[in-house]
Amino acid sequence: MRLNRFNPANIMVSNRGGGGGFPGGGGGRFGCGTLVLALIGAVFFGIDPAQMLGGGGTVQQAPVGPRPGFQGPAQGQSATEVCETNQYALESCNALSSLNETWQPRFQQAGIPFQQPVLNFYQGGTRSGCGAASSAMGPFYCPADQGIYLDTTFFDQMQQQLGARGDFARYYVMAHEYGHHIQHLVGTARQVRQLQQANPQAANELSVRLELQADCYAGVWAGRNRERIEPGDFEEGMTAASAIGDDTLQRQAGQAVSPESFTHGSSEQRTRWLQVGLQTGDEDQCDTFADLQ
Ligand SMILES: [Zn+2]
Repeated sequence: MRLNRFNPANIMVSNRGGGGGFPGGGGGRFGCGTLVLALIGAVFFGIDPAQMLGGGGTVQQAPVGPRPGFQGPAQGQSATEVCETNQYALESCNALSSLNETWQPRFQQAGIPFQQPVLNFYQGGTRSGCGAASSAMGPFYCPADQGIYLDTTFFDQMQQQLGARGDFARYYVMAHEYGHHIQHLVGTARQVRQLQQANPQAANELSVRLELQADCYAGVWAGRNRERIEPGDFEEGMTAASAIGDDTLQRQAGQAVSPESFTHGSSEQRTRWLQVGLQTGDEDQCDTFADLQ
C-alpha cells in the first residue's frame, strides 16, 4: 500500500522503551487475545470494568492533536524521532496517520466524539493502562489509556512463524488494533463486556464477534484508501487474516480444533470479514453481531 509519510502533527506516539513489564512473559498467544481475555477475567473476578475504562467509558470531546494528559513521546524524543526508529515503526506511524485521517471524518459525520489513540512502541515489556504488557502478547489495544501497544519485533515473528509477509499484512495488524479503538469510542466494546458479564457461557462467542468486527474495520480503512492499494496487497491481507485464525493457530500448535474455545474467529471468518470491509469501505456493513441469538 502506498501510504503518505505520517503527519507528525496528526498522530500521538510514544516510545516507552524496554523493561517494566512481566518477567519472561512466555506462553502468551498471538494477537490481542491475551488482553481481551485479561479484561474478561477482570470482569469475572469482580473488578468493575467501568474503572478499567476510566470513567465508565465516557468519551470527552477533543480537538485534533494531543489530548489533555498525553505525556508526549518519552525519553525526550519527538514524534518524528520515535517513528524513525526503524522501518516497521515508520510504517506503523504512516498507517496511524492514515487511520486518523480516515476515521476522524466518519465520526464527525456520525456525530460521535472522536479521540486519537496513542501508539506506544516498546521493547520486550512495559506497563500499560491495562497492566503489564509483554511482547509475547503481541500487539494489543488498551481501552483504559486508549493506547495501541506494539513491539515492532512482532512483525518479524509474524513473517517468520506465521508466513504473513508484506507491508499490507502489517498495516492490517495496525488497522485491526485501531478497530478496537473505534469499538471503544462507539461503545461497542463496553456493551460486549456487559453482555459477557451477564452471559459468561457466551463470552468466547462475543469475543469472536468483536474481533471479527475489528477485522472488518481494518478492511474499511483499506477500502476507503483503495487508490493506494498495490498489486499483492489483497493477497497479503488474506494470508495474514487466515494465518491468525483460531483454527489455524490451534492446528499449528498441534492442538485439536475446538470452535467453542475460539476467541478471534476461524481463518474463514477472519478473511471473510476483512473482505467485507475492504470491498464495501462502509463500517455499517461490519455488523458482526447481527445474527447473534
Ligand atoms: Zn483484536
